[in-house]
Amino acid sequence: MIKYIDSHCHLPKNSDFSDVLARAKMSGVMGCVINAVDASEWNQICDIASKNKNVRGAIGIHPWAINTAHGNWANDMDFILSSNPNLMLGEVGIDKTRDDILTQERIFTRQIEIAIKHRRTICLHCVHAWDIVLRVFKTYRRELPTVIAHAFDGTQNAIDFDTNIYFSYSPNVAMKNFQKMRIGAINTPRDKILIESDSCVLSDVSKSARGVLKMRADITANDIFNNSLGVFFNGQIA
Ligand SMILES: [Zn+2]
Repeated sequence: MIKYIDSHCHLPKNSDFSDVLARAKMSGVMGCVINAVDASEWNQICDIASKNKNVRGAIGIHPWAINTAHGNWANDMDFILSSNPNLMLGEVGIDKTRDDILTQERIFTRQIEIAIKHRRTICLHCVHAWDIVLRVFKTYRRELPTVIAHAFDGTQNAIDFDTNIYFSYSPNVAMKNFQKMRIGAINTPRDKILIESDSCVLSDVSKSARGVLKMRADITANDIFNNSLGVFFNGQIA
């Protein structure tokens, strides 16, 4: 069976994550990274990740959820990260299809500073906003931890940006009308390619793999698996 690691998934709305994991395993999904949308999910994600060796958790405030950033959110995030050394930051970013870009940038930048302080991998959501994101990254260039550009849209400036960004492709990469994303998959260095379901149906990661591999004769599903293993699990999975 082909093995996969899902670089970006979410909590299911009404079912138990252990059921999601069990189903995923039957489809060859050996590990995953669960991303938070807002602070209400942080404790649950922490708990799941601490109980499952093959699950990594990420806590963050999504650009769609900036209106939930109340009170001491940054202190809470800081505290949770300091007590959970495997936890990452995510998902965070800028989305120009949504309102209030200035607040988005302020909350994003604060979260990047927290990730830098704790040296945590950043799971990035970026929609039509690479100009802003790369400007922020440039400010912190020397200290910037590893970044996972989730559901990467293929922007060449990001691929060319000289830092530790990995590019994760969602099932859309298999669709003909996502032309820019497909060109991105062709141009991404082979050791920087990751794949994701971008949902709570982790088996969909196989669609992302098929989409990428159709365009890349130079890599195999196992190469992508090994990229993910290195980025998220220090090369080892249970
Ligand atoms: Zn997401």
